[in-house]
Amino acid sequence: MCKKCGKSFWAIQPRDFCDEPACSGGYRFINQTITKRKFGYKEAWDVYVDAFKKWDYVPLDRYPVVCRWYDALYFVTAGINDFQPYVVSGEVEPPADAVIEPQFCLRFQDIDSVGITGRHYTGFIMVGQHVFNTTDKYVYFKEEGIAQIYEFLTNGLGISPHELYFHEDVWAGGGNFGPSMEFFSRGLELGNQVYMQYQSLPDGSYKELQTQVIDMGAGLERWSWLSQGTPMSYDTVFPSVMKYLYKYGGAPPEFWSKFARYAGLLSVDEMENLSPIWNDVASYIGIEPHNLKEEVYRTRSLYALGDHTRTLLVALHDGALPSNVGGGYNLRNILRRCWSLIDEYDIDVELEDLFKLHIDEFGKWFTELRDYGSLFEILQIERRRYDETMRKSRDIVRRMTQRNEKFDVNKLVELYDSHGISPAVIREFGHSVTIPDDFYHQVQMRHEKQEAKVDRAKYDVTGIRPTKMLYYEKPAATKFTAKAIKRIAPTKIILDKTLFYPSSGGQVHDTGTLNGVKVLEVIKEDGVIIHITEKPIEGDVVEGIIDAELRKVLSEHHTATHIVNYAARKVLGEHIWQAGAEKTPEKARLDITHYDSLSFDQLQEIERAANELVKRNIPVRIMEMPRGEAESRYSMRIYQGGAVPGKVLRIVGIGEYEVEACGGTHTKSTSEVGFIKITSSERIQDGVVRLEFVVGENAMKEIQHHERILKELSDMWGVSRDDVPKTAKKFFEEWKWLKKENARLKEELAKARISDMANSARKVDDVRLISRTFADADIEELIKMAPLLAKEDVVVILASSKDDVKIVVSAGPVAVKRGIDSGAIVRELSKMVGGGGGGRPELAQGGGPKVERLDEVLEKGVDLVKKAINS
Ligand SMILES: [Zn+2]
Ligand SMILES: [Zn+2]
Repeated sequence: MCKKCGKSFWAIQPRDFCDEPACSGGYRFINQTITKRKFGYKEAWDVYVDAFKKWDYVPLDRYPVVCRWYDALYFVTAGINDFQPYVVSGEVEPPADAVIEPQFCLRFQDIDSVGITGRHYTGFIMVGQHVFNTTDKYVYFKEEGIAQIYEFLTNGLGISPHELYFHEDVWAGGGNFGPSMEFFSRGLELGNQVYMQYQSLPDGSYKELQTQVIDMGAGLERWSWLSQGTPMSYDTVFPSVMKYLYKYGGAPPEFWSKFARYAGLLSVDEMENLSPIWNDVASYIGIEPHNLKEEVYRTRSLYALGDHTRTLLVALHDGALPSNVGGGYNLRNILRRCWSLIDEYDIDVELEDLFKLHIDEFGKWFTELRDYGSLFEILQIERRRYDETMRKSRDIVRRMTQRNEKFDVNKLVELYDSHGISPAVIREFGHSVTIPDDFYHQVQMRHEKQEAKVDRAKYDVTGIRPTKMLYYEKPAATKFTAKAIKRIAPTKIILDKTLFYPSSGGQVHDTGTLNGVKVLEVIKEDGVIIHITEKPIEGDVVEGIIDAELRKVLSEHHTATHIVNYAARKVLGEHIWQAGAEKTPEKARLDITHYDSLSFDQLQEIERAANELVKRNIPVRIMEMPRGEAESRYSMRIYQGGAVPGKVLRIVGIGEYEVEACGGTHTKSTSEVGFIKITSSERIQDGVVRLEFVVGENAMKEIQHHERILKELSDMWGVSRDDVPKTAKKFFEEWKWLKKENARLKEELAKARISDMANSARKVDDVRLISRTFADADIEELIKMAPLLAKEDVVVILASSKDDVKIVVSAGPVAVKRGIDSGAIVRELSKMVGGGGGGRPELAQGGGPKVERLDEVLEKGVDLVKKAINS
């Protein structure tokens, strides 16, 4: 038992304290080597593979960080996510009984600790050790698992057994729990081995899991750090990036060596208020707390730049995009943080250069990263958006400053979250703001993914056998005979088999008849297909006919979405994923992940690439395949429509061009689709572009429609079709010129009217009054004219009867002093014509519909002026 924190732990010799940095006095390996030699980052992994091979562990490649196979997460946050949910639940076979993998993971909750504690990253490699024990087969569990780790740590890395601590704990997550063993050395946690053994039940009890899993996760970054004893781990993980960054400053190594020992105490996730710890650390190393923080923050900015750019490189490579929603928000946040750190600490570095260094360095191991796709284009676009945001930010802060608003922590978080305004911008305006140690954490927390919504079943189909799906077995058939199994309502019938495709996967349901009765809707609930019909259907045997034309066009539209998805990826790059799709009889739409709107040229290129594939008449293959096999053969690309449940997947492949897990109906080959015509593209949200298109007959109609428009124009103007754009341009230029000319003439006319009217002022008591009506002036003209006339003691009442009555009243300064209030006069006059209005004493406007009272209005105006002066 630890005398400080009370935790149970194991060590070879009796010890008073556990090895948490807070109990054992910080990191005690800085500037030392406690492993058998210094291991590099990748080298530490190689030693691990070597050690675990002898126990038949199979090394796997990393999975993408974008977690497309598992709805609950945007990004992979731990190695076990690779096997969730189906392997862990026992539904799907694991790739091997015992596996190890270097899984790149993203975590944004520790963002404030990155660059300070040395053990935190937004992107890191979690070394995994995963063993899957089933009821049929026992592989390894607690005993063997921990013995293997021990053997690796002592023989593989060569850490003396005296230097190892094992902390006992309980781990719980995702409804499962079990004991766990964390292992430490010299104040650094090296990994955590969890034994997923039990499942919590709703009544508070628990039961043993069917599949019992060893889930070990360890930060590879820490292994190379412990081994090399550099001041920070970042120096061992991306040494060439750090070497480059140190050219731009940072605290001297002597300082950092002293500080690093205590760095581990400054972890935001364990403490809300770090101030006392900052003070403690400052006194340990004999420096003013304020200076300590300043010095650490300056160098922290360099480490954060190294970390954030590596995270972005991997995430963007794997198909994520910065945006304002979901996981994309986290990415935009760290990208913008890079730029704001560069500004704040005046670091003269180009972000692009850091990415290039990572591609060289990290790309030696993960060679796929060398194929970085649209990375640099995305950076450019994001930079433009960032600059625009900064410009707007400064406007907002300037206005808030003028209004004397307070900038407390909540306000800072809110401003950053909703407008991207960083505290640095607020400081620019001379506000001294205190930024909490967990500022970025607080921001990120506002964007945690909400629990996936579970749609509740609409109909209870428990106990009913799944319907045989004839539309898969006989895709070309249009008629069938089936047995009625159950009627869940008079017009809701379930058959033993059906040709009717239910609405799913963005494809609308088939229509047709059952025993001559119209089928209105087709729904699938837990494998059971429910037909909703216009009238009740009698009898035990049912004859069904589907609308073959509709099915044909839906299948064409469906195949076309696969083709367009392929074409968009070919033209725009590997970051293209399907973000949504819909197939109706009229048209198809496909939403793709892309960082910008599409140009007309890009659209035409996509259309060309799509039709190229159509023309090559490639067969559309349907394959039933175990999930694991499908993933390893075709990669995670198969999850275009999101995660799909089930042990066996229905894989739809257009050659090797486009392979997806899909349950829809398709044509037999690409040429059956016919000509694909993209009709529109629109950026529907940050990072998503919507494409709409039609095929075959509809595509022809679309083109003919455009041709008709062109013909109408060319006939109307009497020019050839080729000359239509030229002519339109000419007309447009002329129209612009005429508009300008018109405005000029109006102005001249107004001037002429004004000088005419100025002479017509008449005396009403001791002010002069000009009142006049126009048949054709609009309100803008009246508003322009009135103040020009209303000088000194002049009051002007102008009215127009164009469409309805418009009234403008204006009064010169002397007239206002004499008691004239234009607003009051307009209100009164507008009431007479059945409307309303108002304004200032100097200028007011109004009006109403009763044109026939226009003359009365002017007479009344004279009265009101008299009354105002005499009152
Ligand atoms: Zn302790
Ligand atoms: Zn499909």
